[in-house]
Order: sequence, then structure tokens, then C-alpha cells
Amino acid sequence: MKIGVLALQGAVAEHARSVEAVGAEAVLVKRVEQLDELDGLILPGGESTAMRRLIDRYDFLEPLRAFGTSGKPIFGTCAGMILLAKEINNQQTNHLGLMDVKVERNAFGRQVDSFETDLPIKGVADDFPAVFIRAPYILEAGPGVEVLSEDTGRIVAARDRHYLATAFHPELTDDRRLIAYFHDMVEEAAKANV
Ligand code: GLN
Repeated sequence: MKIGVLALQGAVAEHARSVEAVGAEAVLVKRVEQLDELDGLILPGGESTAMRRLIDRYDFLEPLRAFGTSGKPIFGTCAGMILLAKEINNQQTNHLGLMDVKVERNAFGRQVDSFETDLPIKGVADDFPAVFIRAPYILEAGPGVEVLSEDTGRIVAARDRHYLATAFHPELTDDRRLIAYFHDMVEEAAKANV
């Protein structure tokens, strides 16, 4: 399997390392044409407005949307989750708008910019070490969305069809259970499309 990491901005190298740790080939995606060779794609954490500016500058917006609507899995972490969301609270426009969730940015407040906590994630782990950095969370999830994890009542991991999103950064730990879960999604989608 070839899994791309959108490499315009953010935590790219860490994701590439985690992709290779579960036996897939990691592709650092810097040009639109590279999307064609991929079975799945990761949108990393970083800063969503900065990432959006680069997405526009390199004409990535429509190709990324087309990648998702073709049925290929996308995993958004933190800023990547904001990019995937259909709606962003208090914002007129979205980015890719592929996943049926409404997100709130920088939602854990200024006092605790970053924190780490062990979370149960449905179908993945009972005790996943979740690293939050100026993280968003999911305020509302559509009827087809499976909530995979909550922290103090806030949705921080969810799946909508072939879209997976976490508010935290799984790539910043050595725990590979979440990337293994995404790898399974990518394999299933690849089999279904043969
Ligand atoms: N606060 C960032 C944003 O709004 C996301 C932070 C992150 O990806 N660690 O884009």
C-alpha cells in the first residue's frame, strides 16, 4: 500500500515514519500528480489556515476533494481534521468539506495549550496515549459518523465512511495502533476498488 502525507506544512516526517512502521510505503506529497499513485492520504497537524493558503497556492483543493470522493481513505489529524470537516464553528467557509462533522478550533482553551492523556478508542485501544496541541474537537457529528473517542464529553476521534479524524497527534508517539487501523481502512478500500 502507498500512503501519502500532504507535505505542504506541519508534522510530516513523523507521519511518514509511522506509515513505514506499519509496513506501507510513505509518499511525501508536494505535487498534485502524486495523488494518482496513492491508496490513502494523511492530512497532518500544523496550522489549518497556513495549510489552506498553500493548498490554494499549489492548486490542491479540487484534486484533494476528488481524491476523497473517489472513495480513497483520508486520515486527518488535528489541523488535518479541520481541513476535512464540513463545517467550522464561527467560520463562513470550510476547506475540503468531506467529513460530516462540525469542528471548533483551538477548543481546549489557552490555559492548557497542550496536554497528554490516555484515551479509549473504539476498535483501536483501551489506553491510547493522545497528545493534544492547540487542538480542535468535534462539536457535532452527522448521523453516519461513528464516534470513536471522547475526552471529557468532547468528541476527539471519529470515522465517517472512509474518512478518519483525530483531534490529537498519534504520530508523535510510538504507539502504532491508530495508524494500523487506518492502514486496514486503506487495504479494505483498495480491495473494494479492484
Ligand atoms: N490550532 C491549529 C489549527 O487551528 C491546529 C493545531 C494542530 O494541528 N496541532 O489549525
